[in-house]
Amino acid sequence: MNSLLLSLLAGLDAAPLAFVGVSVVPMDTERVLEHQTVIVRGERIERVGPAATVEVPADAVRIDGRGKWLLPGLAEMHGHIPPPSAPAAIIESYLELYVLRGATTLRTMYGFHNQFELRERVERGELLGPSMYTAAPALLGQNVKDAEHARELVTKYAGEGYDLLKIHEGLTIPEYDAIAAVAREKGLRMAGHVPDEVGVRRAIEAGQGIDHLDGYWEEAGEDEAKMEELAKLSKEKGTWIVATQDLWSSIFGPVTVETLEQRPELAYVHPKEHAQWKAAKSAQLAHGDAEAGAKMLAGRDRMLGLLAKHGANLLLGSDAPQIYSVPGFSLGHEMPALERAGMTRWQILVAGTRAPAEYWGQAEQWGTIAEGKRADLLLLEGDPTKDIANANRQAGVMVRGRWLDKAEIERRLDAIAARIATLSK
Ligand SMILES: [Zn+2]
Repeated sequence: MNSLLLSLLAGLDAAPLAFVGVSVVPMDTERVLEHQTVIVRGERIERVGPAATVEVPADAVRIDGRGKWLLPGLAEMHGHIPPPSAPAAIIESYLELYVLRGATTLRTMYGFHNQFELRERVERGELLGPSMYTAAPALLGQNVKDAEHARELVTKYAGEGYDLLKIHEGLTIPEYDAIAAVAREKGLRMAGHVPDEVGVRRAIEAGQGIDHLDGYWEEAGEDEAKMEELAKLSKEKGTWIVATQDLWSSIFGPVTVETLEQRPELAYVHPKEHAQWKAAKSAQLAHGDAEAGAKMLAGRDRMLGLLAKHGANLLLGSDAPQIYSVPGFSLGHEMPALERAGMTRWQILVAGTRAPAEYWGQAEQWGTIAEGKRADLLLLEGDPTKDIANANRQAGVMVRGRWLDKAEIERRLDAIAARIATLSK
């Protein structure tokens, strides 16, 4: 019997699982439903209702949800998977880290061909990892010769099955317009950086998603009226934005290496990569322009606050793995950073759950807690609508119906740390 059939049969046989007496944050409208029972069968949520009336099947695995909150799994909308040349132990560990710290969906922003295979292995249950959407190899100035070449590349990437196009620096306007035209024709999304020659207005008009708030600061600087106008334009054009505030603070802010080095999740990072992060941050502190950095960070926060105020489409993403941004864990730093910039807790939770599903046109399938939806769930120790830090205090994670309780999460984290410790600097 082939492995696909086996896993299908296993799914049918698996006992249902019931979260009993839990507070549900369904993320459809701004509300918390108390004393609920949520039944999961296979990959799907079968039933959600008051604990007093929902009957738990006799064969169900019961999870005591009293004093806990259930939130849809989070999406990391700007993440990466190491290149195929990285050790398999690193690639597989990072995929696992995303899930173990609550990111049940991942949009990878730098495509490599091996990501299709990784995605299949995750879907077959051979690897523990998030549900994945994959950007094509980055379209950047040095890889794109001219507009004709840009058209060829986009056509090729569309044929290979990538889910979106990663836009990067250095593209000329004719190249960019050629990419946008073919992307529209093929129904492929564009997201990423805003090339300097293109500028943020042209990117917004072209329907590009903008990551790192790229181009806004370059266009508006500290000019409040311009910022406000760009926020309104972004809302009007439906621009999808991934801010990555914490990463920018780590790179350009005054935070010391000593402070960043206290992040316990560094135990799960390739020692070589960790050493590079440390060196990069040390160099920035020694040689960077601290005053200019502080101004830019304040401007970015202000810009994000205005985008939130005008109801722009904001998505949660942290650019992991990157300088002190560790897969999964980094969302726990990003969410408070978004709140400091002026997003409400509700907006942050939407950006991490329902909005990503809407972005992919899959709101019917996942992103909220409702009957029939994919069972990507976080069991939390506290109410994330009262304190955003609670979104990162997981008592357990469920990914596509697979339940990982706290003990298993800890065990897997220890195993990853042990595997990483054997790799040399
Ligand atoms: Zn990135």
